[in-house]
Amino acid sequence: MTKETFAFQAEINQLMSLIINTFYSNKDIFLRELISNSSDALDKIRYQSITNASALNDNPNMKIKIIPDMKNKTLTISDDGIGMNKEDLVNNLGTIARSGTKNFMEALKEGSDVNMIGQFGVGFYSAYLVAEKVTVRTKNNDGKAYVWESTAGGSFSIEEYDGEMNRGTQMICHLKDDMHDYLNESRLRELVKKHSEFINYPIELYTERTEEEEVTDDEDDDDDENDKPKIDDVEEGEEDKKKKTKKVTKTVNEFKELNTVKPIWTRPESEISSEDYTSFYKSLSNDFEEPLSHKHFSVEGQIEFKALLFCPKRAPFDLFNKKEHNNNIKLYVRRVFITDDCKEFFPDYLSFITGIVDSEDLPLNISREMLQQNKVMKVVKKNLVKKVFEMFEKLADDKEKYKIFYQQFSKNLKLGIHEDEHNRKRLLDLLRYQTNKSGQDLTSLEDYVTRMKEGQKGIYYMTGETLNDVADSPFVEKLNKEGYEVIFMTDSIDEYCTQQMTEYDGHKMLNCAKEGLEIDDNDEEKFKKTEEEFKLLTDKVKEVLGPKVEKVCLSKRLETSPCALVTSQYGWSANMERIMKAQALQDANMAQHMMGKKTLELNPEHRIVNALKKRAENKNDEKSFGSLVNLLFETSMLMSGYTPTNTKMYGSSIHRMIELGLNLGADTDEDEDEDVIDELENIKASNVKSHDIDSEDMEDVD
Ligand code: ADP
Repeated sequence: MTKETFAFQAEINQLMSLIINTFYSNKDIFLRELISNSSDALDKIRYQSITNASALNDNPNMKIKIIPDMKNKTLTISDDGIGMNKEDLVNNLGTIARSGTKNFMEALKEGSDVNMIGQFGVGFYSAYLVAEKVTVRTKNNDGKAYVWESTAGGSFSIEEYDGEMNRGTQMICHLKDDMHDYLNESRLRELVKKHSEFINYPIELYTERTEEEEVTDDEDDDDDENDKPKIDDVEEGEEDKKKKTKKVTKTVNEFKELNTVKPIWTRPESEISSEDYTSFYKSLSNDFEEPLSHKHFSVEGQIEFKALLFCPKRAPFDLFNKKEHNNNIKLYVRRVFITDDCKEFFPDYLSFITGIVDSEDLPLNISREMLQQNKVMKVVKKNLVKKVFEMFEKLADDKEKYKIFYQQFSKNLKLGIHEDEHNRKRLLDLLRYQTNKSGQDLTSLEDYVTRMKEGQKGIYYMTGETLNDVADSPFVEKLNKEGYEVIFMTDSIDEYCTQQMTEYDGHKMLNCAKEGLEIDDNDEEKFKKTEEEFKLLTDKVKEVLGPKVEKVCLSKRLETSPCALVTSQYGWSANMERIMKAQALQDANMAQHMMGKKTLELNPEHRIVNALKKRAENKNDEKSFGSLVNLLFETSMLMSGYTPTNTKMYGSSIHRMIELGLNLGADTDEDEDEDVIDELENIKASNVKSHDIDSEDMEDVD
């Protein structure tokens, strides 16, 4: 086969230029990335060999070797892994960009460190941090060996390799002139110790040392040419003159294993330092940061396994990308790696947990399909989830750490509430919210309950887009005044979550923006009487608004606002409506159905409502009554968090009010909203008379 040249896919090309041209302080990480790729390749062949014993025939070794070559200034990382055929080379190293390519470049541009590269699945290209050219020699069990080569610059070449080679891959980095330090033995030792100590295969470093040897002259003469001993200064000792010996220095080359530590999870916790856990986590997860917390445990009894789980400090960039599931948990059977492609361990919402599970009971040759049905796996899974909750609960005791955790993963917990009925109570206990009483702090539902007032009907919460929106919402006016604590929920996912949060610890969860909000039942009689008094008004308002509202009634929750629009128990709140609109709804019928259910609540204490009541009772004023009610309705839409239905009409009404406030009268324009102006003038006149609203109030309007 002659040499073929291929162009790098555009994004990969950009990534490579970024890596080559930008100055990064920490280039060390290339070694960790290449070793990690080798380790993955070994995992893959070992997994194959479980079901196909002949997979290892070509090369029974399972090692990673690091070979510095002083003469040629190359550093080679070689492995006995699965290797690649030509198609793999074309696809994996250059033409098919992973989703992480783009995300990684964005992260780099935003100032992230190149250290993060492994998390984005583009670790191979980090070789170009230190190399001007990379040569990849590789062979898989298909037979032929190939050489991939590139000096970056937009293209790479592939040709058949005609040298001798066993299954595996050699990554040959032709180091840049200023990168020769990476040939230094102690430097390489240090890097492997730091980043790759817990790799599960022996990592061997090709070392060179010189030894002094005393030889007789005769022996010296017999020395094999190939050994090429350098002849040191020949010191002929006085006494040895007769023997004729001399000292020579010999170069001895040998491979030395660098990672001799036992699998960390098999050691007792008391013997493992937090640095050990951190390095193990880093080598396992490709994360450059230390984990936020870990849980190391073993289960004994009918089934036995050991596990070491970690919670990262930062959510992965593709946390909610369902297409590519995370291979975060590695399954071992009696210390032998089986697979990391196993969705069985955690529900989706816990997919950010990283770790290993080492089972004593599963058969070594278990296939992925068998794993899905395996009873042992079910027990393991149940235990893992339980332990993860214990880890979270312990984290919650450390306020600072929990804050970090909550910022990164609260969405996962909330997703869990939606999806995982079995663990709902434990998840609810992990939630934290700001309330009208908590200031900047976050509070748990458990703490909220301890502060509930005597006879309080339930746990009040208000959902919305921002803290300001919910804190100033008309729906919480009365609750604020009466000293009730209201939980603020401003995450989009809260809306979904609350659908499953009907109660906590026997207390009802009460949405302040939904109909039927119970605050206290004092004065129920009095309220019924007021309802009677206002019946004419509520009926008339409903008549004017028609299908825009489901019903009109008096409110128990308002204090300073004249009215508010509440949602029926099962309809969408204003916040949910906003979220659904933003999601480009597919099902318009459903949307219409859910959005249609609004109730207009009037505040019987408010002077506007009282003035309207008088209007309703005056048979001659029907036309202006309608316009006023409509304006009030549109204003309520806005104040309750909805978008007004007729923004043009609403806008012009407001302009009229401004004109009125500026004493411009009604003669500026002939307009279809003439009746609104009439109405506003009327209301002004009548209110001046009744001293309910004075002209200053009208000026306040804008
Ligand atoms: P990642 O390793 O995160 O998938 P990389 O950019 O490091 O991303 O590598 C891309 C792909 O190239 C790997 O998924 C693997 O298929 C292949 N590859 C890289 N290094 C090796 C190796 N030493 N042996 C076999 N395949 C390899």
